[in-house]
Amino acid sequence: MAERTHPQASCDDASMTGGAIAAERASVEPAFALLTDGRAIQIREVCPGDLDAVRDLHRGMSLENLYLRFFGLSPRIADEISERLCRSAGSAHAVLGAWLGDELVGVANYEPTEDPGSAEIALAVADGMHHRGVGTLLLEHLVSLARSRGVREFRADTLTQNTAMLRVFASAGLATDRGCCADGVVEVRIPLTADARYLDAVAERERYADVASLRHLLGPASVAVVGAGRRPESVGGAILRNLVSGGFPGTVFAVNPRAGERLAGAPCVASVAALPEAPELAVLAVPPDAVAQVAEDCGRRGVRSLVVITSGCDGRALLATCRRYGMRLVGPNCFGVANSAVRLDATFAARPTRAGAAGVVVQSGGVGIALRDHLSRLDIGVSSFVSVGDKYDVSSNDMLLWWEADPATRLGVLHVESFGNPRKFARTARRVGRRMPLLTVVAGRSAAGHRAAASHTAAAATPTVTQEALFRQAGIIATHGLGELLDATALLAHQPIPTGERVAVISNAGGVGVLAADACADAGLCAASLSERTVSELTRLLPHGAACTGPVDTTAAIDPERFTRCLDLVATDDGVDAVLALVVPTAASDLTSAVAAGGAAKPLAAVVLGQPESVRVRYGPGGRRVPSYAFPEDAARALSLARSHGRWLERPVGDEPRFSDLRENTVTRIIQRHLDTVPAGGWLPPADTMELLGAYGLPLAAWRPATSADEAVRAAAEHGDHVVLKADVPGIVHKSDVGAVELDLRGEADVRFAYARLAARFGDRLGGVLVQPMARGGVEILCGIVQEPVFGPLIVFGLGGVATEVLGDRSARLTPLTDVDAAELIRSVRGAPLLLGHRGAPAVDTASLEEALLRLSRLADDHPEVAEVDLNPIIARPDGVVAVDARVRVLPQRRWDPYLRRLR
Ligand code: ADP
Ligand code: MG
Repeated sequence: MAERTHPQASCDDASMTGGAIAAERASVEPAFALLTDGRAIQIREVCPGDLDAVRDLHRGMSLENLYLRFFGLSPRIADEISERLCRSAGSAHAVLGAWLGDELVGVANYEPTEDPGSAEIALAVADGMHHRGVGTLLLEHLVSLARSRGVREFRADTLTQNTAMLRVFASAGLATDRGCCADGVVEVRIPLTADARYLDAVAERERYADVASLRHLLGPASVAVVGAGRRPESVGGAILRNLVSGGFPGTVFAVNPRAGERLAGAPCVASVAALPEAPELAVLAVPPDAVAQVAEDCGRRGVRSLVVITSGCDGRALLATCRRYGMRLVGPNCFGVANSAVRLDATFAARPTRAGAAGVVVQSGGVGIALRDHLSRLDIGVSSFVSVGDKYDVSSNDMLLWWEADPATRLGVLHVESFGNPRKFARTARRVGRRMPLLTVVAGRSAAGHRAAASHTAAAATPTVTQEALFRQAGIIATHGLGELLDATALLAHQPIPTGERVAVISNAGGVGVLAADACADAGLCAASLSERTVSELTRLLPHGAACTGPVDTTAAIDPERFTRCLDLVATDDGVDAVLALVVPTAASDLTSAVAAGGAAKPLAAVVLGQPESVRVRYGPGGRRVPSYAFPEDAARALSLARSHGRWLERPVGDEPRFSDLRENTVTRIIQRHLDTVPAGGWLPPADTMELLGAYGLPLAAWRPATSADEAVRAAAEHGDHVVLKADVPGIVHKSDVGAVELDLRGEADVRFAYARLAARFGDRLGGVLVQPMARGGVEILCGIVQEPVFGPLIVFGLGGVATEVLGDRSARLTPLTDVDAAELIRSVRGAPLLLGHRGAPAVDTASLEEALLRLSRLADDHPEVAEVDLNPIIARPDGVVAVDARVRVLPQRRWDPYLRRLR
């Protein structure tokens, strides 16, 4: 077979057209994305070298299709259109093509109209490729590209009979305005705002397509193990044996050049090419230098997905091969995949896994083995298991989507060090987390705090803002290690989620009960106070010397039946949200089976002191499962984690408000202008800073530049004669530290003296001064944007001013912020009472503060080049809020849209 060439190669000439346009064009990276049937297409810009392909596409279209698209039937129309689409770059138009393998299956383009910010869009899909999502994908990519280039609205003329086209626009989730309809032509107007509704529609399509593509991986009809050896220590051999002994009902092949006709009961062939049929999944356990060739062979043979166990191979080249042939890839350097629903165990685990409720995704194979064993032992079991290894393709994002669609999965366990696309991950997790608990271990805590901090906000971001809070915002239960992870998983898998913080503690040894009550308090829970009725019934039931209020102490002299009855009594008390039952086995009576026998009305956690396992399951009547811990602290922490998840579920999601006054193009222009002069980026000069923040409607104090004492005096007069002077000296980050801020100046003499002081202090370096009105009273607040290494942009809020580091009172949330997030953020700092009305003082204007946070969030999401914003202080008063100091740092960023549907 001839070597397939990558369609991308033909675009090289376009990037040589020179100048700014070439740079602009080069910024659009070719991307792969999934069709509704799970196949991958490549989307990239069309260039003159593609003329033949574009012509073939249009010539191949039926007359009907051509008519619908171009409203005309001239025989030359296909050629004319193709030549126009493939003309050299140079104007503001853009053309994207979709390739399935070598074949161009669709094009979408826009041409600017007379109205600035508006462009005419057209879309064509090959006749045989309708209803597979080609048009929608092209539209989504074109929307993203257009937005990044300042287009704010698409227009399209479509014939009214062209319902398919109208459906593409409408179902894309973009609000469409059907404009005038004349002669059967409808003008559709599409404002390009990526609002929540649009993003939800994109996410829904992504889930559908992603799950379709993962079916080849997790629900294959046939599997080949390439590199299956005879020796017991051979990894490939172990995978083959697990597949066969696990009872996989589909076809299994072994590929090994030296093995005989059968291996571990499976037919064995010498090479991938010699396979009698194309397996849907191939598991590669071959030496590193053989991976590239075997992957290529698999692609040619028609394999749909690869799991590469081998480590030390070139992952990028491997991924390129997989993309070329439309194969999904797990690994390399992984431990395998498993799916209980189809009895697929393509791992080299030593023991089989119990089928069950937990979806598991891990980066490290070792952690994966441990989790599988424990989840089996805890009677939770595993639904699907993927060890993503170096995660060149399939990542935790994919697994979230798979779990969401999989009826067997009731909870998800993630142990990964990073998320390929954190923003998309956070958005998906927020949705999936409403359907099932998602748990993870916070990794890299120690490294997270160390970062060179350039501004107050950046310094604020990590030490006090823990990743835990960010995970919680995304709906993920963050634990501090595997032990805590299993403790919480056991509770969430087997017991309902507590609906409140009030825990009833009941034990057969008073001292243990006190320990448990303390542990609950430490974990943020509180002791339930039992109703009078419960107390009196307990008093009747329990022997003399028992404690019936506070932590209930049954004493050791009690039989299992009465202990069980006590559990039932406290669990049915309305003042109790969860029950913690603790027993110490004694010679008098063994209550270990009683801890799981009662209290079914509420979530129940048991502690059996002396139990060797840190957590295990005990069984009650009707097969009820109760997690049982060795120590009260572990049980209390598990209850607390389950409760905070409950709180997250109860909390309204909120809306991401849209602001109609954002001037995106102004921001784009300021950033571009700065990066043109300073390609490495940095802090914007004051005038740019103010203009940029003003374009997003952030509340800024009035300011005027002045370069002489006379000018400063005039500016001060316009501000009402009570002013502040700030020296504009390049390179200074904290102005007041170096005496660059002159506060509280009244009248001309004050201003002149202050100007003279600044001139003397900074000499030649003084570029001028900023004159601002002096704001009086109010609370100093810090707000800003910082980039978090794992999660992307955060909005930080805290008590500000020059003492902000000393106070260290800050909190942060992931973008995009909802109105609920913004309200919570303001109330989450310790100093919140100062804002909400303290000792008779009126509350500050929190609505304006919240709005400022929401506007910052939009700025961070719309403009990834905005690496850092530091509004410190914002002076918050009952009559409004105003920022008197602002800094913005921009960095060159690959312009990419985190929510765009594309494979990595
Ligand atoms: P920097 O943070 O670079 O030191 P700022 O401009 O934030 O400089 O000024 C330092 C402090 O001066 C602020 O925290 C605030 O307390 C006070 N300040 C600055 N500008 C004003 C103003 N216009 N009105 C009232 N106070 C101000
Ligand atoms: Mg400041």
